[in-house]
Amino acid sequence: MKKYHHITHNRYTFAILLASLCATNYYTQAIPPSTQTFPIVKCDPTPNTYEQIFLTTLRDKNSTREEFRYAANKLIEFLVSKIFNCLETETIAIETPVDSCEGKVLKDSIDQIVSVMRSGDVPLNIFSKYFPSAAINKILIQRNEETAEPIFKYKKFSPTISRAKKVLIAEPMIATGGTLCMVIELLKKQGLEPKNIIIAAICAAPEGLQRLTDLYPEISVVVTVIDDQLNSHKYITPGIGDFGDRYFGT
Ligand code: URA
Repeated sequence: MKKYHHITHNRYTFAILLASLCATNYYTQAIPPSTQTFPIVKCDPTPNTYEQIFLTTLRDKNSTREEFRYAANKLIEFLVSKIFNCLETETIAIETPVDSCEGKVLKDSIDQIVSVMRSGDVPLNIFSKYFPSAAINKILIQRNEETAEPIFKYKKFSPTISRAKKVLIAEPMIATGGTLCMVIELLKKQGLEPKNIIIAAICAAPEGLQRLTDLYPEISVVVTVIDDQLNSHKYITPGIGDFGDRYFGT
């Protein structure tokens, strides 16, 4: 936790650090935002200063596992606010201790979460705190390391998934989009309509987003960042490397 002790223990130092980073524009120069846009992406994929700082830790190959996990968890927490923007809300009247005013509540919450194991289990742990009544579905799809093609291994769906109003797919990295296409096809077989699907990822490649846009234009995707492209091994560049290996340390 070495890099972050000033955040948790000294808010004043952190404020000065943030201000100086913004002043030198260091992070905005280091991580240019993607210029490509995709209609399925329902948030601004240009990382703000908070996201840039934690993204820098994720990208840095010298970050320790502890630092990587801390930064990943912070970015996933921030993804939750982008998920909320995809949900319907309603205005209600409330009383504060001093007056009455209008407030906002969620009309339809997430009723099913699908974790694409094993990386998806990381956001699942955080999402399930915000959507505590959602059923949890698991899918294990492995990637053939040579061809990057997805190989289906295992699934366990809730009996109520076909009636789901909003399904959240937890998958931190959208590379080729192959795994997600397989997940969506499995969900469609259960009777689910793609318009009820939200995918939340930290990092996405334009190639994967294009494939999802072409095949499932009705879905919603929220991301922290859209990176440049895939390399010849189908890793996202500049990317963060293998999310699962770095988070779990395997
Ligand atoms: N999965 C990862 O963890 N990283 C990539 O770059 C691509 C897929």
